[in-house]
Amino acid sequence: MSTLTFDSLNPATGDVVGSHPRHTAADVHEAVERAGEAARWWAALPPAERKRRLLDYKAVLTRHIRELARLIHDETGKPVGDATLEMVLVITHLDWAARHAQKVLGRRRVNPGTIGLNLAATLEYLPLGVVAVIGPWNYPAFTPMGSISYALAAGNAVVFKPSELTPGVGVRLAELFAESVPEQPVFQTVTGLGETGAALAADPRVKKVAFTGSTATAKRVMAACAENLTPLVAECGGKDAFIVDADADVAAAADACLWGALSNAGQTCAGVERVYVADAVYEPFMRELSGLAAKVKAGEDYGPITMPGQLDVIRRHIDDAVKSGRVVTGGSGAVRAPYVDPVIVEDVPEDSPAVREETFGPTITVRRVRDAQEALDLANASAYGLGGTVFSRDARRAAQLARRLRGGMTAINSIISFAGVPALPFGGEGESGFGRIHGADGLREFARAKAVTRQR
Ligand code: NAD
Repeated sequence: MSTLTFDSLNPATGDVVGSHPRHTAADVHEAVERAGEAARWWAALPPAERKRRLLDYKAVLTRHIRELARLIHDETGKPVGDATLEMVLVITHLDWAARHAQKVLGRRRVNPGTIGLNLAATLEYLPLGVVAVIGPWNYPAFTPMGSISYALAAGNAVVFKPSELTPGVGVRLAELFAESVPEQPVFQTVTGLGETGAALAADPRVKKVAFTGSTATAKRVMAACAENLTPLVAECGGKDAFIVDADADVAAAADACLWGALSNAGQTCAGVERVYVADAVYEPFMRELSGLAAKVKAGEDYGPITMPGQLDVIRRHIDDAVKSGRVVTGGSGAVRAPYVDPVIVEDVPEDSPAVREETFGPTITVRRVRDAQEALDLANASAYGLGGTVFSRDARRAAQLARRLRGGMTAINSIISFAGVPALPFGGEGESGFGRIHGADGLREFARAKAVTRQR
């Protein structure tokens, strides 16, 4: 067992929150070994018993919600209210996964569809074994649990490597699981830096890797998975577009736009970063948006930037936007480490880094467009494809735009967090990754289809 440790820090104060082992490759391999046995035990339990244990875990998390929200706040800096909402979403997904696993994955008879063969057929989805989950820091409980809850409900054991910025949250989530499932280490954590995650992804006994993090790291994880043909679900960065059509409710759109950009201080994979507004409503929309932006307060409405290095990216994008566009709100002085005030810049060229690359901060670029078609063309030119938003009063046109907007999820006339809807799949395309978590697709992501035919 490694004797080296690392600290997690409160990004707002710099105080040490906790100290954790820097697990070595040997530690990781031991954890995977233990998980193998736990996986066999967990998979052999009747599905109703697994469901009962998971709902018990839900009750344990509910009892500890304040403690967990405080820990999320301490390690990320986000307001306690936002951290509490994050835990509510964790519990919502856990409940959904536990209640739907058997229905989605259990054995059912299937009409085989053959002609001239008298066959009976069944289909079921079996557990994979050991699932590795590698998580980011921005939603340190919700993001990994969006994979972990579904992997556990599908009958797998999980080894989770939390972000080095938020290890305490991950460790506590696993400790609390052991209150509901004390017999075997069905849900373990390994802590450390990137090398700990790399050792986990490279372990040949891992049957699936669920990675959430940056696109650059996903490529490294995918290369490690390739060695053993380990399947991967990759949830990566985003550069979500927000389209305001000529007939949109301008006040509602501006409110949603600012919230989408500022939520979690912009440190959200599916956060609003590019805004395309139809010419007919451009001025009133911008008046509303800048009026709302002037009222928000750092430290109250949104927290600090959690990762110090991210401030450099945000600063570079702001400087780039300010140089090539027109500042509406904020500007070069908006970075007051560790906080960043909202930055809104118009007319930034579409090929500049501020429009092309993920910023992961509370900054948006806004462009006036002729109509929704031009908005769609520009929005879809991004290498990323995660979420997106359309505001329009014309239900048919909104639905068409939503369907054609690149990415796995589109919201119409609201900025709901797609990730908070347990029954629907969540995931991206292009540089935003592949595979789907949440919902029935999310359960099947952590299972293998088993088809059986019988000659009648
Ligand atoms: P990151 O890529 O730096 O780190 C993610 C995790 O990967 C961490 O646990 C890290 O220790 C680990 N890691 C680093 N190198 C590794 C390697 N070689 N092998 C295996 N693991 C390794 O990402 P981050 O800064 O923690 O998170 C922010 C990013 O996550 C943003 O790009 C954001 O958009 C993305 N994100 C995506 C989603 C989504 O669902 N699509 C959700 C949240 C965050």
